[in-house]
Amino acid sequence: MKNLELLSQIALTFIKSNDFDFKIKNSLDKIGNYFQVSRIYIFLDNEEGTTTSNIYEWCNDGIVPQIDELQNIPHEMAPSWKNFFLEEGSVYYEDVEDLPSDIADILKPQGILSIVVTPLYIEGKKYGFIGFDECEEKKKWSETDKRLLETILSIIATAYKRQFMQRKINAANNNFESLFNTIEDLMVIGDKQGKILYANNAVIDKLGYSSKELHKMSMIELHPLEKREEASGIFKSIFSGEQDYCPLEFQSKNKEYIPMETRTWFGMWDDQECLFCLSKDLRKEQEALQKFIKLFESNPVLMAISDLNNGKIIKVNRAVTDKLGYSKDEIIGEMGMELKIIVDPEKRQQIAEKISILKRIKDFELQVRCKNGEILHGLLSGEVIEIQGKRLFLLIIVDISEHVLLIKKIEEQKNKLQNIIEGTRLGTWEWEIQTSKMVINERFTEILGYTVEELMPVNIETWIKYTHLDDLKKSYDSLKRHFSKESEYYTAEFRMKHKNGDWIWILSKGKVIEWDIEEKPVKMFGTHSDITEKKQLEEKIKEVSIRDSLTNIYNRRHIFERLEFLFLEFLRNKTYFTVSIIDIDYFKSINDRYGHQVGDFILKEFTQIIKKNIRQYDLFGRYGGEEFILVFCDINKEEAKLMIERILDIIRNYEFRYHENKIKFTFSCGISECTEIDKDKISVEKIIEKADKRLYRAKDMGRNKVVISD
Ligand code: GH3
Ligand code: MG
Ligand code: MG
Repeated sequence: MKNLELLSQIALTFIKSNDFDFKIKNSLDKIGNYFQVSRIYIFLDNEEGTTTSNIYEWCNDGIVPQIDELQNIPHEMAPSWKNFFLEEGSVYYEDVEDLPSDIADILKPQGILSIVVTPLYIEGKKYGFIGFDECEEKKKWSETDKRLLETILSIIATAYKRQFMQRKINAANNNFESLFNTIEDLMVIGDKQGKILYANNAVIDKLGYSSKELHKMSMIELHPLEKREEASGIFKSIFSGEQDYCPLEFQSKNKEYIPMETRTWFGMWDDQECLFCLSKDLRKEQEALQKFIKLFESNPVLMAISDLNNGKIIKVNRAVTDKLGYSKDEIIGEMGMELKIIVDPEKRQQIAEKISILKRIKDFELQVRCKNGEILHGLLSGEVIEIQGKRLFLLIIVDISEHVLLIKKIEEQKNKLQNIIEGTRLGTWEWEIQTSKMVINERFTEILGYTVEELMPVNIETWIKYTHLDDLKKSYDSLKRHFSKESEYYTAEFRMKHKNGDWIWILSKGKVIEWDIEEKPVKMFGTHSDITEKKQLEEKIKEVSIRDSLTNIYNRRHIFERLEFLFLEFLRNKTYFTVSIIDIDYFKSINDRYGHQVGDFILKEFTQIIKKNIRQYDLFGRYGGEEFILVFCDINKEEAKLMIERILDIIRNYEFRYHENKIKFTFSCGISECTEIDKDKISVEKIIEKADKRLYRAKDMGRNKVVISD
């Protein structure tokens, strides 16, 4: 009878009490006292099932509690342990020695002699166990005790299961509640009669009713009084399945009207079929709509709204009518999305395709025809927008006509310039004067035989590096004049070193294109042209003009020019010079005897011999027929006489050969020195005159002579 008493007491505990903790503790106490074991305990596994912890413990008198040490014990500490729990039902070990060693080794040190273990299962998953330890003796369990214990344990296990399920349900409910309460929209659940069963926090907040008040209301009562008839009509059609939408506004407890849009569906709530209503507060959207309409209407950018379904334009702003010249009706009614105002029919097609497929368009360039025929250049963008739940398409055209025109102009100018640069094969350079950075074109480097890459990085140093030292000053001077605005352009001719080592003549022209506020040059643009050929040509012309065509020595004019220069130098710096005039003796007879051709040959040969016997910088020219002039700088007439006599000696001993003819001749020479003339009478002519006179003296004196005095 005692055992039945225990059973009924435990069963009662579990039925009567709501306190789970108490139920368990009370039961363990009763069981322990009845069976007189040393210790009873309940272990629960962690969620992952990797560790287990002692959560309840009952100890008999004199038995040391262990609960504090037995927390978060890894299952892997005793691998065989899990074998006991492969199925439901208790395991009895009267002698712990019979247990697998990994378990026995843990139990024996605690003084445990016998154990009973019962796994706790919920929905086929083990989540803990209840155990009994006996430390006094090896306990023998009678079959009656075992049956009693099994029954009690199943009561406890069931209690655990229930508690576990309850927790799960609570969690789900909490989730459900918190879901409803976190949404901004109003959530109302009502029964088939329209009675409110549940309303979320948003309903309470927005409408101002308490949850208690709401539970006494019907859903119809959320609408303003004058709309309730309409509302019940809508509810009827919702319940009959004809409709799942209610556009009627709500009214708050303090009579404020709130625009709402409600969607409905049927579902289960607390085991009964009911209606779920989700209402959206439209105030924010209406505010946004008002804002949008304001912005839309007053926007200087062309804007239109079209129906996404049929592409028809339903609204345009003032900018459209103002700029395009059409009335609103003309555009909205007539044109629609056929986009006839778009000039290029191909573009119309592309736009329509883009919108229908991508539902958006961005910066699409197009031309729009105004009513007066004028063409606007625009960038079209479009985006799906949602207004009060309706999906519409917003089209925006930014007028870029001016921009396009400007670009066109710049492009034209650029092309023109480019054409000129290409046509004239000009090298171009752009110089940031203050940073010395330069940008050059391909032709610039091509002139010098390089590629742009080979010269990178290009700056003013690059230019200096390749330019002839002797020509730099001229360029600097021209730059200076331009920078100080003395000259409108910079222009200079200089030599630059070609990759192949040659010097190339460059004509550089440029102009400052940007000045800073202090009137200092910032940026300069210029060109390079290869004038090497022109310069040779120039040199050639110059050479021809200064040389005698027969002998190729300087002509009389050039000698006179040089003499003028030397004369001025003499006046300025007292650098003196001597003039020698040479005349071949009896040249006429050579001509007469051998012919003019031989005479020419002799003249050429004669100049070559003289050239070889004077210094490179001595001036030697043809003065007339068979007369020549020699000018020596820094040499007085005595020294000059010695030089010429040496030459005369060579000539008089020289045999000129022309075919079989062997010709010999002499010459006469008169020399004067610039210092010989009185200061007030001096001129180039006077100096020459003096030399000339002395030449005649030499002739008079029998020729074949050099005379230096009167
Ligand atoms: P003198 O010793 O007095 O100077 O006698 P000359 O014969 O040299 O002097 P003259 O002035 O009588 O004659 C100069 C001649 O030189 C006349 C002319 O035929 C010749 N002559 C002048 N220019 C040329 C020329 O370019 N070619 C040739 N072949 N003969 C020239
Ligand atoms: Mg003569
Ligand atoms: Mg002569």
